Amino acid sequence: MPVFDYDPSDPDEVAFIKTAARYYQVYEVHSGMMLAESDELRATGIQYSQQDLEHYAQGQPSFIDLQTDQGKIRLRNESLPAEGDLFLLVVGASARPMEDTLNSFLKALAWLIPSGVLLAAMASWFMAGKALQPVAELGKAAGEIVVSRLDRRLPVRGTHDELDQLAIQFNDTLAKLEKAVGEMKQFTASISHELRTPLAVLRGEAEVALMEANSTDHYRRILASQLEEFEKLSRMINQLLTLARAESGEVNIAREPVNISNMTRSLAEQLEPVAASKDVTLLCNCEPGVILSGDASWIERIILNLADNAIKFTLPGGHVWITVTKSMNDAVLEIADDGIGIAAEGIPRIFERFYRADPSRANRADGAGLGLSLVKWAVDQHQGSIHVESTPGSGTRFIVKIPLAAEGVVHQL
Ligand code: ADP
Repeated sequence: MPVFDYDPSDPDEVAFIKTAARYYQVYEVHSGMMLAESDELRATGIQYSQQDLEHYAQGQPSFIDLQTDQGKIRLRNESLPAEGDLFLLVVGASARPMEDTLNSFLKALAWLIPSGVLLAAMASWFMAGKALQPVAELGKAAGEIVVSRLDRRLPVRGTHDELDQLAIQFNDTLAKLEKAVGEMKQFTASISHELRTPLAVLRGEAEVALMEANSTDHYRRILASQLEEFEKLSRMINQLLTLARAESGEVNIAREPVNISNMTRSLAEQLEPVAASKDVTLLCNCEPGVILSGDASWIERIILNLADNAIKFTLPGGHVWITVTKSMNDAVLEIADDGIGIAAEGIPRIFERFYRADPSRANRADGAGLGLSLVKWAVDQHQGSIHVESTPGSGTRFIVKIPLAAEGVVHQL
């Protein structure tokens, strides 16, 4: 019988020995004899054979599980060499508490997993709904934007997240769209207005001719006046068509050497009588041989439009100066006058279609405010720049720069 060495006054040790001494067997390996056995293990009827003993005594300490009426018992086999002999100590412990814990854990899991999944699904649904709410709001706000209400904007929450970025971008695009639609509306309104005026004049004159003209001479005068109106109308319609074609990308700009010095000089000669009829002095000073690469008809249009405006907006006794020079790699065309000038707030807008800085002062029938839009478009097409300086009452200066033709091209001229 084994003797357990412990302190019987220590309740912890007593409890430990009670558990440890519940299942045990001691064998002498060589003889195969069982030297001692606890009552509870005896009740299970387990007994190692000689072969088992030798097997367990040689190997590392091992465990075996034993299924009994009292539940599962886990046995540990440990060989104990002592005084030239070899013993095998078998100590067991009930696996029931462990199994009970495991079972209750599995039961808990069986509850916890479905309820956890359900909870997670509900939480995700709630969170997704909360996270997507701003998207839904944005969508609703976007859906309310129609062409007639382009001044509306999407709400920006100030959270600086992706949705805010999206709303800002969308609002920017809306602003551009609003501007474009506004311009389009204004353009349409302006066209109708600009066409109505000369048509009304023509109609009025025709009525006068029918009702009042009583001599060939009178008819002639009315027809001559009508011819002028027709002339202005067709000029405006031509400008409109050219602008529409240019902006829709239908116009091709030629790339040929253009001697802007010669061209400007010859145009200035043609314009001189027009200037003289208004008592405006036209002075032209062109550095010879300035050659750029571009489209002759469009360059001519640029010069004519700017010079025409300079003469038109200069009072009798005033001057218009036209110069052509070279600067670095550019041909520089300057058209200056000491005319009425343009107010500061009008300067950024003069290249807009139909814009006239002071429609009451300018001769309305004379221009539709399309000339500078075409000039700007043509300059852009030539990779050039146009710049304007003006002081009301003192005069205006337009500076156009267009890249010179390459050296090789110039020699071909
Ligand atoms: P318009 O057919 O009226 O001349 P433009 O597009 O050529 O149209 O010019 C737009 C407006 O710019 C003119 O109506 C005028 O108010 C202003 N402007 C252009 N050139 C001059 C200038 N040299 N002096 C004063 N105002 C000018």
